[in-house]
Amino acid sequence: MNELDPILWIFLGALLIAQATWIFRDARLRREDYAWLWGLFGLINIPSSIIVYILVTRRNNVRCAGCSKPIPRELEICPYCGSIKAEK
Ligand SMILES: [Zn+2]
Repeated sequence: MNELDPILWIFLGALLIAQATWIFRDARLRREDYAWLWGLFGLINIPSSIIVYILVTRRNNVRCAGCSKPIPRELEICPYCGSIKAEK
């Protein structure tokens, strides 16, 4: 096996940290119960962690009436614009 360039490892590490940070912040914004666990999960690999995260958290969404972003069905208030959901 060839030795990988250390620069490449640093680049991969930075990508993993960026992915984990994005997942953690998104999970916290969406009031996921285990935001920190999702963040750790984001450190495991690229890009399957983020694909799994998006598939799991986006499947149960409705569109916000105020800003039309996808929000979890169980939320009463949109985390993006703060408008209150009209229907349940
Ligand atoms: Zn909204």
